[in-house]
Amino acid sequence: MAQRDYYEVLGVDKNASDADINKAYRKLAKKYHPDLNHEPGAEEKYKEVNEAYEVLHDKQKRAQYDQFGQAGVNGQGGFGGAGFGGSGAQYTNFNGGFGDFTDIFSDLFGGGGRRRADPTAPQKGQDLDYTLEIDFMDAIKGKKTQVSYDRSEVCEACHGSGAEKGTHPITCDKCHGTGVMTISRQTPFGMMRQQTTCDKCHGKGQIIEHPCPTCHGEGTVQKRHTVEIDVPAGIDNGQQLRKSGDGEAGKNGGPYGDLYIVFKVKPSKKFTRRGTTIYTEVPISFAQAALGDQIQVDTVDGKVTLKIPAGTQPNTHFKLRGQGVPHLNSTGRGDQETTVNVVIPKKMNDKQKEALVDYVKAGGGNITPQEKNFFERLKDKLNGE
Ligand SMILES: [Zn+2]
Ligand SMILES: [Zn+2]
Repeated sequence: MAQRDYYEVLGVDKNASDADINKAYRKLAKKYHPDLNHEPGAEEKYKEVNEAYEVLHDKQKRAQYDQFGQAGVNGQGGFGGAGFGGSGAQYTNFNGGFGDFTDIFSDLFGGGGRRRADPTAPQKGQDLDYTLEIDFMDAIKGKKTQVSYDRSEVCEACHGSGAEKGTHPITCDKCHGTGVMTISRQTPFGMMRQQTTCDKCHGKGQIIEHPCPTCHGEGTVQKRHTVEIDVPAGIDNGQQLRKSGDGEAGKNGGPYGDLYIVFKVKPSKKFTRRGTTIYTEVPISFAQAALGDQIQVDTVDGKVTLKIPAGTQPNTHFKLRGQGVPHLNSTGRGDQETTVNVVIPKKMNDKQKEALVDYVKAGGGNITPQEKNFFERLKDKLNGE
């Protein structure tokens, strides 16, 4: 089931203020409210609007949604987290936010603010999140692994009906299978209908006279579930992978929800990664920088030779093409950028010192005032030690 973008549902743009969101929501909720709008599809729209509002008016959920999309707000906080959304989302609670509007709904629904669609219709199961921590190199090279977690699965004994073998659930005679009871109430505005959950079937619309002994009438059982995960080469921190059908069992024969694997990549001591570029630093000596050299540099594939040209300045970046992270959804790879750190020795033996003084003297024919200054200071320093 494709989920429409929440901003699109409310008809606001991504930068909409809280006031804009409230305003858009009020307008649409009134327009599609099932007690005010009897057109086909109005109820679905109403639910959609409420679901979008539930997320976008909450700063934290909105931020998660902006970053991770649907998965960011479904069952956040790992398995069994207080997910809202998914198939479990019916009508939302109007707990606070805007006084007058809340009152209208309280009147209509007797304070509960809840209403249900056909409780016996197939519903997709809840989506699940799983945070998978992987090593830096596994994110670059890819890896096959497994994750195991508990989830609800359709009871094999009763095939999800919840009724003992050879029996069937019967339609609730009190609510006629709707799961709700309608009560009429006289108010100063005229007769108001109130809907409450059926107390006989507890909103299920069906009654199981002989519960399945395996699942005790639930139709689902908790089971350990294992999924093979093919970690794609190039995956980055915070990115996610959807495994269709590896979420919780659906209701009334509905499909399973999905599993969202959210990757958490451990940092590396050797490499820094931004996108598909790998950054490293390598120390070289003053002499290597001045005279040039060939050095061995670590890459994610092992060592490669880097040519340091004569006269290389400190903090020069060298680009190693194609030595970075593989592109996730296409061929090719990013680059590696290696920065050379010219290291000035803290200690030198006498021979080294002499050589360095000779070096300075050798350039003596062409000394600028600044260099002369440097020479004087160097001489003082060497004599002083
Ligand atoms: Zn069962
Ligand atoms: Zn009932």
